[in-house]
Amino acid sequence: MCTERYIKSPASLFVAEIAARAIQQPNHMSKLTGKVAVVTGASKGIGAGIAKSLAAEGAAVVVNYASSREGADKTVAEIAKAGGKAVAVQADVSKKADIVRLFAETKKVFGRLDILVNNAGIYAFTPLEDITEEHFHRHFDLNVLGTILAAQEAVKYFDEKGGSIINLSSVVSTLGIPGAAVYSATKGAVNSLTLVLAKELGPKKIRVNGVAPGMVETEGTAAGGMTEGEFRKDVESKTPVGRIGQPQDIASVVTFLASDDASWVSGETWFVSGGFR
Ligand code: NAP
Repeated sequence: MCTERYIKSPASLFVAEIAARAIQQPNHMSKLTGKVAVVTGASKGIGAGIAKSLAAEGAAVVVNYASSREGADKTVAEIAKAGGKAVAVQADVSKKADIVRLFAETKKVFGRLDILVNNAGIYAFTPLEDITEEHFHRHFDLNVLGTILAAQEAVKYFDEKGGSIINLSSVVSTLGIPGAAVYSATKGAVNSLTLVLAKELGPKKIRVNGVAPGMVETEGTAAGGMTEGEFRKDVESKTPVGRIGQPQDIASVVTFLASDDASWVSGETWFVSGGFR
């Protein structure tokens, strides 16, 4: 009786009409329609997940890769199959000339830039006694210098509406894991960069945020033997949510931060790790 009266009230009919329209419109969830995004290191792993998630919300995506052309083509094909727009562009993000070419190519293909996701990164865990200058520079050149140079170049392409930069950090930036000095230091530097650049670029309407994942199952972590056996069990036992992550767990948060739904969020690094930190 009570339910009958509720359904027939003008207010509830109005709500039902709005809900029905939202379901009928295929793009009712498209938060990024008309936006263009560059995702570095999107040929696999977390980057590929982010590229697909941004494209699913309507962004045209530049899928950057260093050497895995096949992986980048697969990400582009999956985006196209789902009705999205993407193109693969090779560039070594530790090199300035390649970064300049990456953004010039983005402008040429899609005409503008709104979102940069600094995802490309490497992680080799090495105890102090085995750290070499080469190990240090390889990590810092990509994870830190690459993040700085890509942001520097992106700023030249964002228009008066501003833009959104999301930097991939890691829980190890604050965990203090023995044997991970150099990698952890790169991600600590990324956390600082996020904070500084948010303040420096805020006046240009550019938001800068970070996402610090816990362990996520990717090609990189699988190759490092982290996704199976004792290592995985140990991480899972320390993770309140009780499982390791999947690329989509990170991609959904990055997509939110890239969107106008997060228009008052800047300078934050969000730990996305099932509670492990
Ligand atoms: P991944 O599976 O190893 O994939 C790395 C991606 O980066 C690939 O697309 C690779 O391209 C690209 N890349 C490597 N060197 C590059 C370069 N010089 N220039 C441009 N692209 C380059 O890595 P992931 O596990 O997805 O990690 C992605 C990011 O998340 C990294 O920044 C990592 O530090 C961070 N993160 C990961 C985890 C995790 O558990 N997976 C946790 C915390 C943070 P090619 O295939 O062409 O080489």
